[in-house]
Amino acid sequence: MKEIGIYIHIPFCKQKCFYCDFCSFSNMEKYITKYIDALREEIRGWKEKLKAYEIKSIFIGGGTPSILPIKEMDKIIDAIYSNFHINKDLEFSIESNPGTLNKENLVYYLNNNVNRLSMGLQAWQDIHLKSLGRIHNKEEFLKNFLLAREIGFENINIDLMFGLPDQSLKDWEETLYHVVQLNPEHISAYSLKIEENTVFNELYEKGSLNLPSEELDRDMHHFAIDYLSAYDYKHYEISNFAKKGKECIHNQIYWKDKEYIGFGLGAHSYFNKKRFSNTKIMEEYIDNIHKNISPCAFEEIISKKDEISEYMFLGLRMIRGIVIDEFKDRFGFNPYDVYGEEIMKLKKQGLLYTDEKSIRLTRKGIDLSNQVFVAFLLD
Ligand code: SF4
Repeated sequence: MKEIGIYIHIPFCKQKCFYCDFCSFSNMEKYITKYIDALREEIRGWKEKLKAYEIKSIFIGGGTPSILPIKEMDKIIDAIYSNFHINKDLEFSIESNPGTLNKENLVYYLNNNVNRLSMGLQAWQDIHLKSLGRIHNKEEFLKNFLLAREIGFENINIDLMFGLPDQSLKDWEETLYHVVQLNPEHISAYSLKIEENTVFNELYEKGSLNLPSEELDRDMHHFAIDYLSAYDYKHYEISNFAKKGKECIHNQIYWKDKEYIGFGLGAHSYFNKKRFSNTKIMEEYIDNIHKNISPCAFEEIISKKDEISEYMFLGLRMIRGIVIDEFKDRFGFNPYDVYGEEIMKLKKQGLLYTDEKSIRLTRKGIDLSNQVFVAFLLD
């Protein structure tokens, strides 16, 4: 059987964080039951199409999946298990906001095959959590992290952000210090980006957001890479670090340009040489599903050229880079046949490292990764 990953989007949040442009809403709880019922229908509708596939990873993300009442989460998990074949080594992740976890939902997750818990901490200092618009403080995070461990979670990710307004390098070092003391299996560390239609964007345009300089932002990333590697966290993707064997299977499906299906509002899929995504409008999503109309709002056929480009720039996000033999197995030729000139140019600029087995980003290439990725677009 072929393997595939599935993503389920839960677009509800208690409060919208000031930096967030994800497809997520606060004060929309009245839609929860209708939404979950539609989601179940959408999942059921894929039973036939996925009958030759085995689910290798499930990722319930959002939004805030942990906001859902247990009976609603139960409907989702039941729909997945009753419609699809599940791989025996399934990775099953749930994203959570530390302000919405408790003994009841944690025990339920663990008893229902969730074997990877992702917790959005973002920063250690309450002052930063407050300025990001997070609903939790450090104490709540700590209490729920320890509770999750006590209940039996053996694979926990902690999401962090750096480059925050008024954040110093010392604050970031302190965040990493405390997180490492907790010994989670996985850490994600993303640089804050100011996105349109967010509170932070408004503040930024008014000039009232004191962001660290680009240089400091880069120093923070470099510090994380060096510090975490000293504690046996393997830097395996630009923004992701894991203890041995704990690299996220689901995210590697994206970076290895493999197939996945996204269910729910705004969810993206890559299947049968097509990329497509659902509407981001709640009423439209629910209505369409009930009328048996596809909730798909965007679809793109991926040509061979697109596939090669995507394979390159997604693959280069991983620190192991592009493995030449894997590229040959997939496309039937050597990456140098298409990109020989670009690769040599980027190598000369100190952005790529190459040997007979692989092509990888250098540290400078990690800093300037977007510049590298653009070079792999094919006309
Ligand atoms: S909890 Fe997550 S999804 Fe919800 S608003 Fe905050 S960052 Fe966005």
